[in-house]
Amino acid sequence: MRREDFPILARKVNGHPLAYLDNASTSQKPKQVISAVSDFYENHNSNIHRGIHSLSEEATEMYEDSHVKVARFVNADNGEIIFTRNTTESINLLAYSLCLGLKAGDEILLTEMEHHSNLVPWQQIALKGGLKVRFARVDDSGAIDMEHFSSLLGKRTRIVSVGHVSNVLGTINPVREISKASRDNGSVSIIDAAQSVPHMPVDVKSLGCDFLAFSSHKMLGPTGVGVLYGKRHILESLPPFLFGGDMIRQVDFGNSRFNDVPWKFEAGTPDIAGAVGLGAAVDYLGRIGMDAVLDHGRKLSDYARSRLLLTPGIELYGPSGKRGSLLSFNLKGVHSHDVAEILDRDGIAVRAGHHCAMPLMRKLGITGAVRASFYLYNSKDEIDRLESSILRVRKVFSK
Ligand code: PMP
Repeated sequence: MRREDFPILARKVNGHPLAYLDNASTSQKPKQVISAVSDFYENHNSNIHRGIHSLSEEATEMYEDSHVKVARFVNADNGEIIFTRNTTESINLLAYSLCLGLKAGDEILLTEMEHHSNLVPWQQIALKGGLKVRFARVDDSGAIDMEHFSSLLGKRTRIVSVGHVSNVLGTINPVREISKASRDNGSVSIIDAAQSVPHMPVDVKSLGCDFLAFSSHKMLGPTGVGVLYGKRHILESLPPFLFGGDMIRQVDFGNSRFNDVPWKFEAGTPDIAGAVGLGAAVDYLGRIGMDAVLDHGRKLSDYARSRLLLTPGIELYGPSGKRGSLLSFNLKGVHSHDVAEILDRDGIAVRAGHHCAMPLMRKLGITGAVRASFYLYNSKDEIDRLESSILRVRKVFSK
């Protein structure tokens, strides 16, 4: 990885070099991804699948090549990768398509640490269809209470959907164990991998899940593209989520037959350039190696925790052991937005607020937190800057 690959990191913010520590929201993009997107528009732009002309064939090949690259990246088979708009849409697709087959009283099992994206779609479908959403407890260490999880996994549980890595606590959940327990129970298992696929090797076969969702924009790729992995036989049996062009095989006035997977789930013109950019992002991460990405993220996250633990007045959230590459905290007596605003004056970008996990915030007894989240281009120096800046915030507020 070369920091120079990321043009935006050369920017100054408020007179300081940018320390971008908001990667759990979205990552920055290397030149290789940016130029793959511009190359598509400059040299190959055309719609896919329908054209019998050279540009359309090139665009189709590039788009389909990205399906293959992403499949390889998570060890899925061809045809098992669907491009959506983002993780949120991937989960909405599942909530719609899976729940169509459910009956009132059927249950969906989540945890208390889910992002709104893996909570609100289920909640809203459940409200309409008389389904019940249950939440496995999060214990004081920030882990899922697995005894409680097992006690909720019962005869009526049709769907289990769990985040791989919490975007607030950084907890790495035992998703292989959860997928196995779901399978043994006859439930469909879904992993929200928005915070794991960008940061660690993820192998869908080894995890044994039925579905896995993630977003291109958090893994060096463009915004506007999401991924849904699904086991082929389940995808084939599921009804489509969106209807229209490209997802059909045959249309009559009375009814339609649908295309094969994955295209059955990719109605209309997709974000072709975005998918091509995601392919370039996957190439970039592949060259570095996901073990190296994981190792770097872990070192930064451990270093940040060790530094902030020593900072007076700081309350840290999440497990003390193995964690994702992020750290959430509050400075006693200071609103998280005020902390973020003062850090910004020093050129440090962090996120503050409820992080799309309001129920978890309520459980933690807070309304918000500051989150510093790291990626492969961040350094210990930037964490040192974060620490000094936090000390400055403390001074400002203790006056
Ligand atoms: N799940 C988790 C755990 C996340 O962190 C996020 C993004 N913050 C999402 C889902 C939603 O991702 P997107 O906004 O790309 O749909």
